[in-house]
Amino acid sequence: MEHYLDNAATTKTCEAAKNAALEIMDNIYGNPSSTHTKGRIAKDYLESCRKTVADTIGANTEEIIFTSCGTESDNFAILMGAELQKRKGKHIISSLAEHDAVRKSLDKLESMGYTVTRLKPDSTGSVPVSSVIDAITSETVLITLMMVNNETGAVTSIKEISEKAKEINPDILIHTDAVQGFLKVPFKAKTLGADMISISGHKIHAVKGIGALYVKKGIKIKPLIVGGEQERDLRAGTEPMPQIAAFAAACKQDPEIEKIKELKEYLISEIKEKLPQVKYLKTDAPHILNISLPGYKSEVLMNFLETKNIFVSKSSACKQGKRSHVLEAIGQTTDYIDGALRIGLSRFNTKEDIDALISGLTEALKLAHR
Ligand code: PLP
Repeated sequence: MEHYLDNAATTKTCEAAKNAALEIMDNIYGNPSSTHTKGRIAKDYLESCRKTVADTIGANTEEIIFTSCGTESDNFAILMGAELQKRKGKHIISSLAEHDAVRKSLDKLESMGYTVTRLKPDSTGSVPVSSVIDAITSETVLITLMMVNNETGAVTSIKEISEKAKEINPDILIHTDAVQGFLKVPFKAKTLGADMISISGHKIHAVKGIGALYVKKGIKIKPLIVGGEQERDLRAGTEPMPQIAAFAAACKQDPEIEKIKELKEYLISEIKEKLPQVKYLKTDAPHILNISLPGYKSEVLMNFLETKNIFVSKSSACKQGKRSHVLEAIGQTTDYIDGALRIGLSRFNTKEDIDALISGLTEALKLAHR
Protein backbone atom coordinates (compact mmCIF):
# COMPACT_ATOMS: atom_id res chain seq x y z
CA MET A 1 0.00 0.00 0.00
CA GLU A 2 1.22 3.48 -0.90
CA HIS A 3 1.50 6.19 1.75
CA TYR A 4 1.75 9.52 -0.03
CA LEU A 5 2.68 12.17 2.52
CA ASP A 6 4.14 14.80 0.22
CA ASN A 7 0.92 16.69 -0.42
CA ALA A 8 2.50 20.11 0.01
CA ALA A 9 4.55 19.36 -3.12
CA THR A 10 1.52 18.28 -5.08
CA THR A 11 -1.66 16.30 -4.58
CA LYS A 12 -3.46 13.51 -6.35
CA THR A 13 -6.17 14.67 -8.76
CA CYS A 14 -9.64 14.08 -7.33
CA GLU A 15 -12.32 12.23 -9.30
CA ALA A 16 -14.44 15.33 -9.84
CA ALA A 17 -11.48 17.26 -11.29
CA LYS A 18 -10.48 14.35 -13.51
CA ASN A 19 -14.02 13.96 -14.84
CA ALA A 20 -14.40 17.69 -15.47
CA ALA A 21 -11.15 17.76 -17.48
CA LEU A 22 -12.24 14.71 -19.50
CA GLU A 23 -15.62 16.26 -20.25
CA ILE A 24 -13.86 19.29 -21.73
CA MET A 25 -11.47 17.18 -23.78
CA ASP A 26 -14.28 14.98 -25.09
CA ASN A 27 -17.04 17.51 -25.61
CA ILE A 28 -16.39 21.15 -24.76
CA TYR A 29 -13.17 21.46 -26.75
CA GLY A 30 -13.91 24.72 -28.54
CA ASN A 31 -11.67 27.75 -28.16
CA PRO A 32 -13.43 30.25 -25.87
CA SER A 33 -12.32 33.04 -28.22
CA SER A 34 -14.01 31.46 -31.26
CA THR A 35 -17.24 33.16 -32.26
CA HIS A 36 -19.07 30.02 -33.41
CA THR A 37 -21.26 27.87 -31.19
CA LYS A 38 -18.43 25.60 -30.02
CA GLY A 39 -16.49 28.66 -28.93
CA ARG A 40 -19.46 30.23 -27.19
CA ILE A 41 -20.18 27.05 -25.25
CA ALA A 42 -16.53 26.92 -24.14
CA LYS A 43 -16.63 30.61 -23.19
CA ASP A 44 -19.76 30.06 -21.06
CA TYR A 45 -18.06 27.12 -19.36
CA LEU A 46 -14.94 29.20 -18.77
CA GLU A 47 -16.97 31.93 -17.11
CA SER A 48 -18.84 29.43 -14.94
CA CYS A 49 -15.47 28.06 -13.77
CA ARG A 50 -14.27 31.58 -13.05
CA LYS A 51 -17.39 32.14 -10.94
CA THR A 52 -16.73 28.96 -8.96
CA VAL A 53 -13.13 29.96 -8.24
CA ALA A 54 -14.22 33.53 -7.43
CA ASP A 55 -16.94 32.30 -5.05
CA THR A 56 -14.49 29.95 -3.34
CA ILE A 57 -12.04 32.75 -2.67
CA GLY A 58 -14.77 35.28 -1.87
CA ALA A 59 -14.10 37.52 -4.87
CA ASN A 60 -15.99 38.92 -7.86
CA THR A 61 -15.59 37.05 -11.15
CA GLU A 62 -13.76 39.96 -12.80
CA GLU A 63 -11.15 39.80 -10.06
CA ILE A 64 -9.92 36.32 -11.08
CA ILE A 65 -7.28 35.91 -13.79
CA PHE A 66 -6.39 32.34 -14.72
CA THR A 67 -2.65 31.67 -15.01
CA SER A 68 -0.60 28.55 -15.63
CA CYS A 69 0.45 28.01 -11.99
CA GLY A 70 1.21 29.58 -8.62
CA THR A 71 4.67 30.55 -9.85
CA GLU A 72 3.23 32.58 -12.72
CA SER A 73 0.73 34.23 -10.38
CA ASP A 74 3.57 35.25 -8.03
CA ASN A 75 5.72 36.58 -10.88
CA PHE A 76 2.74 38.46 -12.32
CA ALA A 77 1.72 40.06 -9.03
CA ILE A 78 5.22 41.09 -7.99
CA LEU A 79 6.74 42.18 -11.28
CA MET A 80 3.67 43.92 -12.61
CA GLY A 81 2.62 45.21 -9.19
CA ALA A 82 6.01 46.92 -8.87
CA GLU A 83 5.71 48.24 -12.43
CA LEU A 84 2.30 49.72 -11.63
CA GLN A 85 3.69 51.48 -8.58
CA LYS A 86 7.05 52.58 -9.97
CA ARG A 87 6.31 56.29 -9.90
CA LYS A 88 5.33 56.14 -6.23
CA GLY A 89 8.46 54.44 -4.90
CA LYS A 90 10.81 51.51 -5.21
CA HIS A 91 10.82 49.83 -1.82
CA ILE A 92 9.36 46.36 -1.34
CA ILE A 93 8.89 44.37 1.86
CA SER A 94 9.03 40.58 1.91
CA SER A 95 10.58 37.85 4.04
CA LEU A 96 13.51 35.46 3.99
CA ALA A 97 11.19 32.46 4.02
CA GLU A 98 9.31 32.98 0.74
CA HIS A 99 8.95 30.46 -2.06
CA ASP A 100 11.47 30.73 -4.90
CA ALA A 101 8.72 32.06 -7.19
CA VAL A 102 8.65 35.15 -4.97
CA ARG A 103 12.35 35.27 -4.09
CA LYS A 104 13.47 35.20 -7.70
CA SER A 105 10.87 37.76 -8.79
CA LEU A 106 12.28 40.02 -6.07
CA ASP A 107 15.87 39.33 -7.20
CA LYS A 108 14.83 40.52 -10.64
CA LEU A 109 13.36 43.72 -9.24
CA GLU A 110 16.53 44.35 -7.22
CA SER A 111 18.56 44.09 -10.40
CA MET A 112 16.24 46.76 -11.83
CA GLY A 113 16.97 49.20 -9.01
CA TYR A 114 14.31 48.31 -6.42
CA THR A 115 15.21 47.91 -2.76
CA VAL A 116 13.85 44.81 -1.06
CA THR A 117 13.67 44.39 2.71
CA ARG A 118 13.60 40.67 3.43
CA LEU A 119 12.35 40.26 6.99
CA LYS A 120 13.45 37.49 9.31
CA PRO A 121 10.54 35.25 10.28
CA ASP A 122 10.03 33.89 13.79
CA SER A 123 11.36 30.47 14.79
CA THR A 124 8.58 28.66 12.91
CA GLY A 125 8.44 30.74 9.71
CA SER A 126 5.68 33.19 10.51
CA VAL A 127 6.45 36.85 9.83
CA PRO A 128 5.62 39.08 12.82
CA VAL A 129 3.13 41.83 11.99
CA SER A 130 5.13 44.43 13.90
CA SER A 131 8.31 43.80 11.91
CA VAL A 132 6.41 44.39 8.66
CA ILE A 133 4.86 47.59 9.92
CA ASP A 134 8.20 48.85 11.28
CA ALA A 135 9.82 48.25 7.88
CA ILE A 136 7.40 50.53 6.00
CA THR A 137 8.99 53.72 4.65
CA SER A 138 7.66 56.55 2.51
CA GLU A 139 9.15 54.67 -0.48
CA THR A 140 7.30 51.37 0.23
CA VAL A 141 5.01 50.41 -2.64
CA LEU A 142 4.57 46.65 -2.30
CA ILE A 143 4.42 44.07 0.48
CA THR A 144 4.59 40.43 -0.57
CA LEU A 145 4.34 37.72 2.08
CA MET A 146 3.21 34.13 1.94
CA MET A 147 0.09 33.15 3.85
CA VAL A 148 1.30 29.67 4.81
CA ASN A 149 4.92 28.64 4.68
CA ASN A 150 5.29 25.65 2.38
CA GLU A 151 8.04 24.02 4.43
CA THR A 152 6.87 24.60 7.99
CA GLY A 153 3.13 25.31 7.82
CA ALA A 154 3.57 28.60 9.70
CA VAL A 155 0.76 31.06 9.11
CA THR A 156 1.41 34.79 8.70
CA SER A 157 -1.41 37.17 9.56
CA ILE A 158 -2.01 38.78 6.18
CA LYS A 159 -5.27 40.33 7.37
CA GLU A 160 -3.64 42.22 10.21
CA ILE A 161 -0.68 43.23 8.06
CA SER A 162 -3.01 44.51 5.31
CA GLU A 163 -5.11 46.48 7.77
CA LYS A 164 -2.16 48.10 9.53
CA ALA A 165 -0.15 48.78 6.37
CA LYS A 166 -3.14 50.40 4.67
CA GLU A 167 -3.67 52.60 7.72
CA ILE A 168 -0.15 53.93 7.25
CA ASN A 169 -0.41 54.22 3.47
CA PRO A 170 -3.47 53.01 1.55
CA ASP A 171 -1.46 53.07 -1.69
CA ILE A 172 0.82 50.21 -0.67
CA LEU A 173 -0.07 47.11 -2.68
CA ILE A 174 -0.34 43.92 -0.65
CA HIS A 175 0.28 40.60 -2.34
CA THR A 176 0.04 37.22 -0.67
CA ASP A 177 1.22 33.91 -2.02
CA ALA A 178 -1.69 31.81 -0.76
CA VAL A 179 -0.72 28.69 -2.71
CA GLN A 180 -0.45 26.69 0.53
CA GLY A 181 -3.19 28.60 2.33
CA PHE A 182 -5.99 28.22 -0.21
CA LEU A 183 -8.60 25.75 1.09
CA LYS A 184 -6.41 24.98 4.11
CA VAL A 185 -6.58 28.18 6.13
CA PRO A 186 -10.00 29.67 5.44
CA PHE A 187 -10.01 33.24 4.15
CA LYS A 188 -12.13 35.45 1.93
CA ALA A 189 -10.47 37.94 -0.40
CA LYS A 190 -12.82 40.74 0.62
CA THR A 191 -12.03 40.52 4.33
CA LEU A 192 -8.37 39.54 3.95
CA GLY A 193 -7.56 42.99 2.63
CA ALA A 194 -4.82 41.87 0.22
CA ASP A 195 -4.85 43.43 -3.24
CA MET A 196 -3.46 40.38 -5.01
CA ILE A 197 -3.64 36.71 -4.05
CA SER A 198 -1.86 33.81 -5.78
CA ILE A 199 -3.41 30.35 -5.80
CA SER A 200 -2.61 27.09 -7.60
CA GLY A 201 -4.68 24.13 -8.75
CA HIS A 202 -2.41 21.17 -8.16
CA LYS A 203 -2.23 21.75 -4.40
CA ILE A 204 -6.00 21.29 -4.06
CA HIS A 205 -6.47 18.04 -6.01
CA ALA A 206 -7.03 19.70 -9.41
CA VAL A 207 -4.28 19.22 -12.00
CA LYS A 208 -0.88 20.73 -12.74
CA GLY A 209 -0.77 23.68 -15.11
CA ILE A 210 -3.41 25.93 -13.65
CA GLY A 211 -3.36 28.77 -11.16
CA ALA A 212 -5.07 32.07 -10.64
CA LEU A 213 -4.29 35.54 -9.50
CA TYR A 214 -6.91 37.53 -7.65
CA VAL A 215 -6.51 41.22 -8.44
CA LYS A 216 -8.76 43.51 -6.48
CA LYS A 217 -11.15 45.57 -8.58
CA GLY A 218 -9.70 48.95 -9.49
CA ILE A 219 -6.05 47.86 -9.57
CA LYS A 220 -4.90 48.53 -13.09
CA ILE A 221 -2.18 45.92 -13.37
CA LYS A 222 -0.70 45.25 -16.82
CA PRO A 223 -0.23 41.73 -18.24
CA LEU A 224 2.97 39.80 -17.68
CA ILE A 225 2.33 37.56 -20.68
CA VAL A 226 1.32 39.43 -23.80
CA GLY A 227 -0.35 38.26 -26.99
CA GLY A 228 -4.06 37.59 -27.50
CA GLU A 229 -6.75 39.37 -25.56
CA GLN A 230 -7.75 36.46 -23.32
CA GLU A 231 -8.52 37.06 -19.65
CA ARG A 232 -9.71 40.61 -20.36
CA ASP A 233 -6.37 41.32 -22.01
CA LEU A 234 -4.53 40.52 -18.78
CA ARG A 235 -3.10 37.10 -19.58
CA ALA A 236 -2.57 36.09 -23.19
CA GLY A 237 -2.78 32.52 -24.42
CA THR A 238 -5.65 30.18 -25.24
CA GLU A 239 -7.27 29.23 -21.96
CA PRO A 240 -6.30 25.69 -20.81
CA MET A 241 -9.91 24.61 -20.48
CA PRO A 242 -9.35 21.05 -19.15
CA GLN A 243 -7.17 22.46 -16.36
CA ILE A 244 -9.56 25.32 -15.65
CA ALA A 245 -12.49 22.87 -15.45
CA ALA A 246 -10.50 20.63 -13.10
CA PHE A 247 -9.59 23.63 -10.95
CA ALA A 248 -13.23 24.69 -10.59
CA ALA A 249 -14.35 21.12 -9.89
CA ALA A 250 -11.69 20.75 -7.17
CA CYS A 251 -12.81 24.05 -5.61
CA LYS A 252 -16.31 22.62 -5.19
CA GLN A 253 -15.11 19.65 -3.11
CA ASP A 254 -15.20 19.68 0.66
CA PRO A 255 -11.59 20.49 1.67
CA GLU A 256 -12.10 18.42 4.87
CA ILE A 257 -9.86 20.73 6.87
CA GLU A 258 -10.99 19.28 10.21
CA LYS A 259 -10.02 15.77 9.13
CA ILE A 260 -6.58 16.96 7.99
CA LYS A 261 -6.14 18.89 11.25
CA GLU A 262 -6.97 15.77 13.27
CA LEU A 263 -4.43 13.76 11.29
CA LYS A 264 -1.75 16.33 12.05
CA GLU A 265 -2.66 16.21 15.75
CA TYR A 266 -2.55 12.42 15.66
CA LEU A 267 0.86 12.52 14.01
CA ILE A 268 2.18 14.88 16.69
CA SER A 269 0.78 12.74 19.52
CA GLU A 270 2.33 9.60 18.01
CA ILE A 271 5.69 11.34 17.66
CA LYS A 272 5.54 12.49 21.30
CA GLU A 273 4.66 9.03 22.52
CA LYS A 274 6.74 6.78 20.28
CA LEU A 275 9.57 8.89 18.91
CA PRO A 276 10.48 11.46 21.54
CA GLN A 277 13.84 12.12 19.87
CA VAL A 278 12.03 13.56 16.84
CA LYS A 279 11.79 17.34 16.86
CA TYR A 280 9.02 19.22 15.06
CA LEU A 281 7.86 22.74 14.42
CA LYS A 282 4.51 23.54 15.96
CA THR A 283 2.57 25.54 13.36
CA ASP A 284 -1.04 26.40 12.58
CA ALA A 285 -1.60 25.14 9.03
CA PRO A 286 -3.51 21.85 9.18
CA HIS A 287 -1.56 20.05 6.47
CA ILE A 288 2.17 20.63 6.99
CA LEU A 289 4.43 19.33 9.73
CA ASN A 290 8.17 19.86 9.58
CA ILE A 291 10.00 17.24 11.62
CA SER A 292 13.66 16.49 12.17
CA LEU A 293 15.81 13.71 13.49
CA PRO A 294 18.94 15.58 14.51
CA GLY A 295 22.04 13.49 13.84
CA TYR A 296 20.44 11.70 10.90
CA LYS A 297 20.41 12.70 7.23
CA SER A 298 17.12 13.64 5.56
CA GLU A 299 18.10 11.91 2.34
CA VAL A 300 18.88 8.63 4.07
CA LEU A 301 15.58 8.76 5.96
CA MET A 302 13.61 9.64 2.84
CA ASN A 303 15.18 6.86 0.83
CA PHE A 304 14.56 4.36 3.61
CA LEU A 305 10.91 5.42 3.91
CA GLU A 306 10.54 5.09 0.16
CA THR A 307 11.49 1.42 0.39
CA LYS A 308 8.35 1.09 2.55
CA ASN A 309 6.26 2.98 -0.05
CA ILE A 310 6.14 6.08 2.15
CA PHE A 311 6.70 9.37 0.35
CA VAL A 312 7.79 12.52 2.19
CA SER A 313 10.15 15.31 1.23
CA LYS A 314 13.20 17.06 2.51
CA SER A 315 12.01 20.61 1.86
CA SER A 316 10.18 22.31 -0.99
CA ALA A 317 10.02 20.08 -4.09
CA CYS A 318 11.32 22.87 -6.30
CA LYS A 319 14.57 22.99 -4.29
CA GLN A 320 15.31 19.57 -5.80
CA GLY A 321 17.10 18.38 -2.71
CA LYS A 322 19.05 21.61 -2.05
CA ARG A 323 19.43 22.96 1.48
CA SER A 324 16.33 24.68 2.84
CA HIS A 325 16.61 28.49 2.91
CA VAL A 326 13.47 28.53 5.08
CA LEU A 327 14.97 26.45 7.90
CA GLU A 328 18.11 28.59 7.70
CA ALA A 329 16.04 31.80 7.84
CA ILE A 330 14.20 30.69 10.96
CA GLY A 331 17.51 30.00 12.69
CA GLN A 332 17.33 26.21 12.96
CA THR A 333 20.54 24.39 13.88
CA THR A 334 22.58 22.61 11.23
CA ASP A 335 21.65 19.34 12.92
CA TYR A 336 17.93 20.08 12.63
CA ILE A 337 18.23 21.16 8.99
CA ASP A 338 20.30 18.13 7.97
CA GLY A 339 17.74 15.72 9.44
CA ALA A 340 14.57 17.59 8.43
CA LEU A 341 11.59 16.06 6.66
CA ARG A 342 8.39 17.75 5.52
CA ILE A 343 5.17 15.82 5.99
CA GLY A 344 2.34 17.10 3.79
CA LEU A 345 -1.14 15.81 4.56
CA SER A 346 -4.28 15.80 2.43
CA ARG A 347 -7.87 14.72 2.78
CA PHE A 348 -6.93 11.47 1.06
CA ASN A 349 -4.66 10.47 3.95
CA THR A 350 -5.75 8.21 6.79
CA LYS A 351 -4.43 7.18 10.20
CA GLU A 352 -2.89 4.17 8.47
CA ASP A 353 -0.55 6.49 6.59
CA ILE A 354 0.53 8.08 9.85
CA ASP A 355 1.00 4.67 11.49
CA ALA A 356 3.12 3.57 8.52
CA LEU A 357 5.25 6.70 8.83
CA ILE A 358 5.76 6.22 12.56
CA SER A 359 6.79 2.59 12.19
CA GLY A 360 8.96 3.46 9.17
CA LEU A 361 10.78 6.13 11.16
CA THR A 362 11.12 3.82 14.17
CA GLU A 363 12.75 1.20 11.98
CA ALA A 364 14.97 3.76 10.25
CA LEU A 365 16.27 4.97 13.60
CA LYS A 366 17.15 1.46 14.71
CA LEU A 367 18.95 0.65 11.46
CA ALA A 368 20.83 3.90 11.40
CA HIS A 369 22.04 3.20 14.95
CA ARG A 370 23.55 -0.13 14.00
N1 PLP B 1 4.19 29.26 -3.56
C1 PLP B 1 4.18 28.30 -2.66
C2 PLP B 1 4.07 28.66 -1.22
C3 PLP B 1 4.27 26.97 -3.03
O1 PLP B 1 4.27 26.01 -2.11
C4 PLP B 1 4.38 26.66 -4.41
C5 PLP B 1 4.53 25.27 -4.86
O2 PLP B 1 5.14 24.46 -4.21
C6 PLP B 1 4.35 27.72 -5.33
C7 PLP B 1 4.26 29.00 -4.87
C8 PLP B 1 4.43 27.46 -6.79
O3 PLP B 1 3.21 26.95 -7.26
P1 PLP B 1 3.18 26.12 -8.63
O4 PLP B 1 3.79 24.80 -8.35
O5 PLP B 1 1.73 26.03 -8.97
O6 PLP B 1 3.95 26.91 -9.62
